[in-house]
Amino acid sequence: MSIAICPGSFDPITLGHLNIIRRTSRIFDRVVVCVMHNAAKPSPMFTIEEKLDMVRRAVSRYPNVEVDSSSGLLAEYAKQYEGAVIVKGLRAASDFEYEFQMNLINKKISPELETMFLTASEKYTFLSSSVVREMAMYGADLTGLVPNEIIDDIQRKAQRWRNV
Ligand code: ADP
Repeated sequence: MSIAICPGSFDPITLGHLNIIRRTSRIFDRVVVCVMHNAAKPSPMFTIEEKLDMVRRAVSRYPNVEVDSSSGLLAEYAKQYEGAVIVKGLRAASDFEYEFQMNLINKKISPELETMFLTASEKYTFLSSSVVREMAMYGADLTGLVPNEIIDDIQRKAQRWRNV
């Protein structure tokens, strides 16, 4: 059985992420979406539990996709799934440089671990979690940026942040 791991910080999950997850689920038998605690992105908008809940609701329509979380290194996490391939989305050259570096680090820890990249769909190349967070802070409409199921969660959280 082929297994893919789609890692990310998903702060919050966007339609760009979901597009990569959906396409990955058509190629692999089993897909594990892993919400990573990213030390390089220190003050997340959502807790791991909130992100897990939102990702679970967003992917519930895909039967071969499951959701997990990890606060460790991706290469260590991946060892529990024998033969698993990491699948990531690439939006721009800047994504490529970062991902190339991450891949080299992962290979040092786990030489057998392979990473595959899917190019972002044209309509989502501009979309990132930080764009969503910023739009939410200004009270903008998030339709078409994130899954409909989680729009209320983001708006509620943004409202609380605005009132702090
Ligand atoms: P972000 O860069 O938005 O904070 P993550 O760290 O959660 O996102 O990214 C997880 C993965 O999803 C990365 O491989 C990233 O390149 C990919 N990704 C993020 N946004 C998009 C998008 N709009 N289209 C395709 N892939 C994306």
